[in-house]
Formats: sequence, C-alpha cells, structure tokens
Amino acid sequence: MQALKTEVQQEIDKNAKMAQVMVDKVFSFAELGFHEKETAKYITGILEKNGFKIEHGISGVPTAWWASWGSGKPVIAIGSDVDCIPRASQKPGVAYHDPIVEGAPGHGEGHNAGVPLNVMAALAVKNIMKREKLSGTLILWPGVAEELVATKAYYTRDGYFNEVDMCIFTHVSSNMNVSYGQASGTGLISVEYTFEGESAHSAGSPWRGRSAADAVELMNIGWNYAREHMHPLGRSHSIINYGGDQPNVVPSKASIWYYFREITYPKIMATYERGNEIAEAAAMMTRTKMSKRILGTAWPRHFNKVMAETMYENIKTVGLPQWSEADQTLAKAVQREVNSQRDTSGLKVKLDTIGLPVKNPVSGGSDDIGDISWKVPTITLRFPSNIPGLQGHHWSNAIAMATPIAHKGVVAGAKVEAMTILDFLLKPELVNQSWDYYKNVQTANQTYEPMISESDKPATYLNADIMEEYAPKLKPFYYNEKKYDSYLEQLGIEYPTLRVDKNTSEGM
Ligand SMILES: [Zn+2]
Repeated sequence: MQALKTEVQQEIDKNAKMAQVMVDKVFSFAELGFHEKETAKYITGILEKNGFKIEHGISGVPTAWWASWGSGKPVIAIGSDVDCIPRASQKPGVAYHDPIVEGAPGHGEGHNAGVPLNVMAALAVKNIMKREKLSGTLILWPGVAEELVATKAYYTRDGYFNEVDMCIFTHVSSNMNVSYGQASGTGLISVEYTFEGESAHSAGSPWRGRSAADAVELMNIGWNYAREHMHPLGRSHSIINYGGDQPNVVPSKASIWYYFREITYPKIMATYERGNEIAEAAAMMTRTKMSKRILGTAWPRHFNKVMAETMYENIKTVGLPQWSEADQTLAKAVQREVNSQRDTSGLKVKLDTIGLPVKNPVSGGSDDIGDISWKVPTITLRFPSNIPGLQGHHWSNAIAMATPIAHKGVVAGAKVEAMTILDFLLKPELVNQSWDYYKNVQTANQTYEPMISESDKPATYLNADIMEEYAPKLKPFYYNEKKYDSYLEQLGIEYPTLRVDKNTSEGM
C-alpha cells in the first residue's frame, strides 16, 4: 500500500502540467449552470481518450455525463461542480476588479478546479489498477448547475447512484480538509411562483385588469412579515424574475423566485409550506391564478465518518502546497482589496484539523451534494486552491483560480484523493465500515427522499439567454494551451498584478 501511495503521488507530480492546462481551460470557458457545453466536451474528450465509457445527457440534462472505467466492486463515484457565477468575469492574477469581458459570467466560486482534480486522481489510480489487476469501478460525474442546486437530486432520483458504493466529492477551498457528520450550512428548496391575471389598458380601463405584478409584490410583503418570525438558522432570499412589460399594460403575468433554506429536511419542507400559503393568499388578494415550479433542491449535507477519517490520514501525509512569495503577495493584496476582516495574512500555511459534526448548527450556504450524501456514503475533500477571507460568489473569488495557487492546490488535492481511492480499493473492510456508519448512525432516524417528485424536470432553460449573449464574447478568450504556457501568459498578465496607488506609488 505504502509503495503504491508513493507511486501515485509521484505520478501526479509528473503530470502537474496537465492539471494546469485543465484548470486554466475550464476557467476560460466560464459557463453558467446548464450550459457547461465546452467544459463537458473538453473533459469527456480527455476521459474518453483514456478509456472511460461516457454516457452523455444523463437525467435529461444536456451538459451532464457519467464516465466509467473498470469493473466490479467497489464502485467509487467521484464528482465536482463545474458551473460559474453571473457577472463574475475577472482576469486571474490581478488583485482588483478587472473583468475579462464586462458583465460576463466568471468562475467566482472556483468550480473550474474540482473536475480537473478528479481527472488527475482517476487517471493515476487507473494506471495502478490496470497493472495490479485490482477490482473496482471508477465513475466520474459533474455537478452541473450547482449554483442553482439543480441536478444532483435528479441523478439520485433517476437511479445513477443505486449501484455506487461510495462517493468522493471535491470542492475548492482555502485549506485542505474533510469533515464528517452534519456539516455547517443549510439545505434548500428553490421555487418559482408565477401569477396570471388579466391585462388591460392601465389608464383607459384599469378596472378591467388583474395585475400579476401586484400578486408578486403582495407575496413579497407577506413573506417579509413572516421573515420576522423565522428561526435565525433559516435563510430566504428572492429575485423578481419577471414583472411585466411596460407600465401602460396591466401585467397579466409575473413571477418571483425564492430560495427557502433551513438546516434539516423537515424544516425546509415546513418553510416551503409557509411560502406556498403566502403565495396562495397573494393570488386570492389579487384574483390571479398561482402556479409554482421547483427549480432546485438540496438536502443538508451529512458526511461519512469512516471515509473522512481515512482521507484525513492522507491529507496529513500530503500537507499544504508550498506557496511562493508571488502567491502570498497576490493573496494579501486581494484580502486588502475586499476588506477581509477574517483573514488578512494571505494563504494558509497551517493544515486544518478534521471537521467534526457541528454541535450547534451553523446557517449558511448549501450544495446539492447533500442529496448524494444521503443516498450513499459520501465525503467532500476541500482543497486549497483559493484565497481565504473572500465573500464568495464574487469576482474576487475568481482571481486565484487560473494561477499557480489553483494549480498547486489541485495537484495536492489529487494526491489525497488518489491515495484515498487506493485505501478503499485495497481494504474492502473500509467500504463495509462506511456503510455501517451510514446505516446505523446517519440514517438511523432519518430516511432520504428527494424533494422533487417523479414528474419534476430539471430547469435546463435557465441561464440560456445570458449564455447566448456572452458565449460569443468569451470565445476569443478561451485558453489555447498549444500556443501559451499558461492562461496568465495568454492574457499578458504579470503575476501578480497589484493596484498602483496614485498617492503612494512614486518611488515604490
Ligand atoms: Zn461550490
């Protein structure tokens, strides 16, 4: 085992160039959820060339895929998200807001790094499995439209994880760690309420109109009063995504889109129920008709103890990357730029401890990996490819993501993942122990059922208009690895590029 683990680390170091190319390439595609077309084509192309069998368009999602190699047990599924954030376009390595394409989407969460990490780990392990004739199946899959928490429940509902023994998920972070038990953060249900009324000339015959926009406003007012009585761990936010066409036409159609977040499945469903009541009341007040559509769902995350402890041993062996002075200079400058209160001292140089189950639940974001974590034993490897202390879902979170910071973090993370896969391939008892935890601890008092029904369909039309506008503008900036050694080089960026302070720059 030790010899194989040493070998797999050397192999990944040897292929570090490949990690850089994949990370930079996916960064440059900058595709929003449900439209990760170039990303899907590129990554599945690499996997296919390396002998993986690909099923495209799984669960009715054109950019989703399921890649498998090998045979027999255990079946290990490794996944990561691939989509980016609206309006987060940003030049890498530049320590202030400087978009590649103004207004365009960008990797302001760092979802460009996880799947390249998984590919690195899978290819290295595959070579060893082949030579040593190890039994086992490797699956790679993408978290499509994670920012909309919009696909993973469909994968579980449609049976993709029925034959899977365990899932290793990866997510960008600013340290390297893994946790078990209930994670901090929430689960959610994302719902669009649409109201239909009757149009009329707003000045000529307003008494004949029934305004759907009024229903949206009244629903929002009702919900904001209800919010006062929400538990502080809950979170809810909305956008009005359609409010009519022009003032002199009474809006016959309007819609509002809510995320309802809570820390347990029953509480999410109770919050959703409250939302539905208020929507119905708004329809009644305005004599409009209300319909709703689920656009996304995510169970609160619960991670596997046996898997996490196994992985943490490998995290200790690999440790954090060696950051250069340039890496640290960039990180500190970005922290200053966004007024980070939490972190001001650059990149992490001390490894995190293993994450324990939260004693007092903490509110916050969600990831639909929660659904998979309730379907099969699952962990998330958080790998160090980003700068600590940033606000998230923001252009500043994209700055590090096509620089040596991201590249080194992916190489370190790939080693941890590959070594952990070897643990499970060579010690089947660990797989059984993981299931013991899943059956006797995690699901002892809570069984999983997706929040979506058999008839719900993924909302693949979302983001279509934005990508139609921006994909052609982003295309000239796709990374050309044949011509340029790095994406920084292609964009002509000096690493790091710092803000020149007009008052103090003289002589500095
Ligand atoms: Zn994410």
